[in-house]
Amino acid sequence: MNIYRISCLTAIVIASLIFYSCGKDDGRFREVDDRLVYLFESFEEEAEQRGVTLNLDTIEGNISQIIDPGILGLCQYAQNEGELNTITIDNRTWAESDSQFREFVVFHELGHCVLNRLHLDQQDMSGFCTSIMASGTANCVRNYNELTREEYLNELFQ
Ligand SMILES: [Zn+2]
Repeated sequence: MNIYRISCLTAIVIASLIFYSCGKDDGRFREVDDRLVYLFESFEEEAEQRGVTLNLDTIEGNISQIIDPGILGLCQYAQNEGELNTITIDNRTWAESDSQFREFVVFHELGHCVLNRLHLDQQDMSGFCTSIMASGTANCVRNYNELTREEYLNELFQ
């Protein structure tokens, strides 16, 4: 009886492992750094909530060193067939940022690479950037936080 139980359990464990590895092979975001996956999912969800259906399966996401000083992230558009649009987040920026700022940088780059958005450096009466797509080199002041997030995301996906 005990042996039977153990083998049953073993079978379940093995089955789970096979399912897990199969699931992972067929899974989404294969070309995305594990640390970025939740932000890719969140980007899709926030879009969906605003009536925009997106699929980020064809976007590559990396965290690695960007040599140019002051560049927090990049979006590179695919140049040839078979290539993917690729976002790269500077590894130092990633390490030094809180979750809010990480989201800001990733969503900005996905704004380029998924939504094909260009920079928008408008500012409101207080001098704050009106868009998450602000270039960071203009005069407006970034103001992405818990209170303003909703409004910035509305603007991003409008
Ligand atoms: Zn940009």
